[in-house]
Amino acid sequence: MSLYIASLNSGSNGNCYYVGNDTDAVLVDVGISCRETEKRMKQLDLSMKKVKAIFISHEHGDHIKGVSTLANKYSLPVYITAGTAKHGPILIKHLSKSFTHGKPVAIASLTVMPFSKKHDAADPHSFVISDGNINVGVFTDIGVVCDNVLHNFKQCHAVFLESNYDEAMLENGRYPIHLKNRIRGGEGHLSNRQALELFIRHRAGHLSHLILSHLSKENNSPELAAEMFAAHAGDTNIIVASRYEASAVYSIGAAQDISAFQRKSPPVQLGLFA
Ligand SMILES: [Zn+2]
Ligand SMILES: [Zn+2]
Repeated sequence: MSLYIASLNSGSNGNCYYVGNDTDAVLVDVGISCRETEKRMKQLDLSMKKVKAIFISHEHGDHIKGVSTLANKYSLPVYITAGTAKHGPILIKHLSKSFTHGKPVAIASLTVMPFSKKHDAADPHSFVISDGNINVGVFTDIGVVCDNVLHNFKQCHAVFLESNYDEAMLENGRYPIHLKNRIRGGEGHLSNRQALELFIRHRAGHLSHLILSHLSKENNSPELAAEMFAAHAGDTNIIVASRYEASAVYSIGAAQDISAFQRKSPPVQLGLFA
């Protein structure tokens, strides 16, 4: 009884996250092209046939670029709020479904819990995907650790958590001041320090995988972020999602399953980029 998770891409150039079990899956955001999404799914040996729905976090281009084409090609329902849809992708109407903060959506054998968050978009949300036992969070583009992020983070066995920028690199970097303030102003992105603080203080005992996500190309580095978290990792696997390629597929099991799984085999490493 595991959930399988992967980042197909993560960063300001495109975000797409896969969460599924043996029969069903959802994608959170499709911010890379349809063709690239299909290519990376194939590399990871993941089947589009299992994907039953797409959830859209907000209307920024790096989260919606490929959604219309992919949804139309596979006749997939796209869960998107009216506020996001107004600014977002053009979808065929019958494919658009709505969701509401705090109201779980059943997708075949999975449940997706949406919650609202702080980000400079029309109606931004993040999601926890659950099979009833295992909870996986996809928390990127969060300006601040609000109560909603905090509450949902504590439930998770695995989280794609934004770790967007190093505070000193942003401060000393070449971005204009208005952009620096947009990023760090509470409705932009989460810094390494903010993400680390959330992890240290509030991770659940059963948090097995933390996938650092949506790293800035300009104001962060994968090595720096990984190093910051490594010292505090404990029993949690720390992974940095790339802005250039898909991650491996990680198997997330219940606490008792994980130790059994780890005894039997190393973490699932699939695909060309594993
Ligand atoms: Zn983004
Ligand atoms: Zn955004």
